[in-house]
Amino acid sequence: MEIINDYQPRGKFKAALFDFDGTVSLIRQGWQEVMETYFTDVLMQACGSGDRSATAAYVRNFIDELTGVQTIYQCIRLAEEVAACGGRPADPLEYKREYHRRLMQKIEHRIQGLKEGRIKTDDLLVPGAVSFLRALQERGVALYLASGTDEIYVRQEAELLGISSFFAGNIYGALDNYKSFSKEMVIRKILAEHDYSGCNLLGVGDGYVEIQNVKAAGGMAVGVATDELACMEVDTWKRHRLINAGADVVIPNYINLEEIMDYLFGSN
Ligand SMILES: [Mg+2]
Repeated sequence: MEIINDYQPRGKFKAALFDFDGTVSLIRQGWQEVMETYFTDVLMQACGSGDRSATAAYVRNFIDELTGVQTIYQCIRLAEEVAACGGRPADPLEYKREYHRRLMQKIEHRIQGLKEGRIKTDDLLVPGAVSFLRALQERGVALYLASGTDEIYVRQEAELLGISSFFAGNIYGALDNYKSFSKEMVIRKILAEHDYSGCNLLGVGDGYVEIQNVKAAGGMAVGVATDELACMEVDTWKRHRLINAGADVVIPNYINLEEIMDYLFGSN
């Protein structure tokens, strides 16, 4: 565990908000590449010229800055970029459908493998995630799951990974009516319902947005910079982005559970 800001006061956590993809689940590993390739195709075609690798780098950057919000916002941004270079953008919902179709081609075998028992849940969970969730639960911390992926899929995939029960009814994801969900709204709801303050909130995620939202609410943010799929080392690109977003600590996975729990709940 790398400590970036020695967060004070620790030990008062009552609620923990987890991101899903890349934080707990590896089912959608590789989604960034699928989105980058597709968005670059669309933009290259719309703009009619330009260097593909420069366009891909530009696309990757805006995808990254919007990681953690709902997928539709990344598609809205794509439509804006198409319009900006003089193209005629499609409905962002069409972009979202096509992205999802391409992603499903890549990950369908994982979902089927889990359903049929050919793939073990441990192979598609960030190492140590279940032990970490259990340890927090045993400490009396209420667990929440919030994802930019459509809620229906988050629920299905959490079920397939055998972790739904940790979150009771507290699983949130993207909705068709996208203005009725955001991670920021979930955080506000958690704090308001229980009259918690920022020091009661722990956030765990691998995306820019959730880290920023947790920090804005005064909570502690654990950045998960895991090198998917192996998940044994810190991914330096993710680490850099998470630190920029305000992560208090950075971890590659949850294997060093004792060290993590000691830091979160130890005296400071
Ligand atoms: Mg994520």
